Amino acid sequence: MYTIKTYLMAQTLDEAYSALQKNKSNVVLGGCGWLKMARKRFWTGIDLSRLGLDRIEERDGWLELGAMVTLRQLETDPAARAVFGGILPQSVERIVGVQFRNCATVGGCVWMRAGFSDLLTALLVLETEVELYHAGRMPLETFLALPQSRETRDILTHVRVKLDGRDAAYQSVRNTATDFPVVTAAAAHLGQSWMVAVGARPMRAVRVPAAETALSAGAMPEACRAVAALGYAGNLRGSADYRRKVAQVLVRRAAGEILQREGKQ
Ligand SMILES: Cc1cc2nc3c(=O)[nH]c(=O)nc-3n(C[C@H](O)[C@H](O)[C@H](O)COP(=O)(O)OP(=O)(O)OC[C@H]3O[C@@H](n4cnc5c(N)ncnc54)[C@H](O)[C@@H]3O)c2cc1C
Repeated sequence: MYTIKTYLMAQTLDEAYSALQKNKSNVVLGGCGWLKMARKRFWTGIDLSRLGLDRIEERDGWLELGAMVTLRQLETDPAARAVFGGILPQSVERIVGVQFRNCATVGGCVWMRAGFSDLLTALLVLETEVELYHAGRMPLETFLALPQSRETRDILTHVRVKLDGRDAAYQSVRNTATDFPVVTAAAAHLGQSWMVAVGARPMRAVRVPAAETALSAGAMPEACRAVAALGYAGNLRGSADYRRKVAQVLVRRAAGEILQREGKQ
């Protein structure tokens, strides 16, 4: 259980950001799903609930997700369900349970950059940008490469996904229904290009360029070999070798789902 000495309901993003910089023990509160697992003492908890960051909107050709959008909102939102083959709702619908998803936020999920993140795996095969209050707007992959230290603390305000008409599919394997995933995989297809990502290796999700090239050439076995060549590790949920084998199956299934919708399989 974590404890917070004082509580700030921020009225502006500027106030929230200033409070975050004031003390290294101050913390941004998302849905507190992860925070509450830690035994930590924070000085000020900064609540972003009143900043209008809880909306999913289509704006200038992008699907814009506010940082305080809950996973359940993402799962049920008609606009999110209607695009990219429904990959965004699909990627979060197996995370714990409805009560949990009613609290956990898109901002918290993306900010954590966790290896097990279902949502990050899905976002990687879409053209995704992250907006930070101080550092501004940047591609998701640039954000993922930023150092995670107390000195670089910022506030994630939005995640934006370009509405470019690509089709996409998501796959994951879990040992039990509500557990963390053992492996996650996503694929997307736009014109001649394929996008492939594998996550929960258990390291953070990455794109697999060699698999993307192979799929663009219609070579599924080569794509699977490229997926197998990624780095995997073992933990209590599965061995490295098991993950390597399952990841190939998941990528094959995700790509197959898209090809089937296109009438090519
Ligand atoms: C038991 C359990 C099981 C889970 N299973 C899965 C799973 O199977 N798959 C999966 O993908 N995820 C899983 N998760 C993670 C979950 O989906 C969320 O990623 C997690 O709860 C964080 O979201 P939150 O809104 O609760 O963030 P919080 O717990 O509120 O915050 C998490 C961290 O992010 C920071 N933060 C939050 N919002 C912002 C922001 N807008 N800007 C800057 N910093 C911010 C906080 O300061 C904190 O450091 C699980 C979590 C738990 C507790």
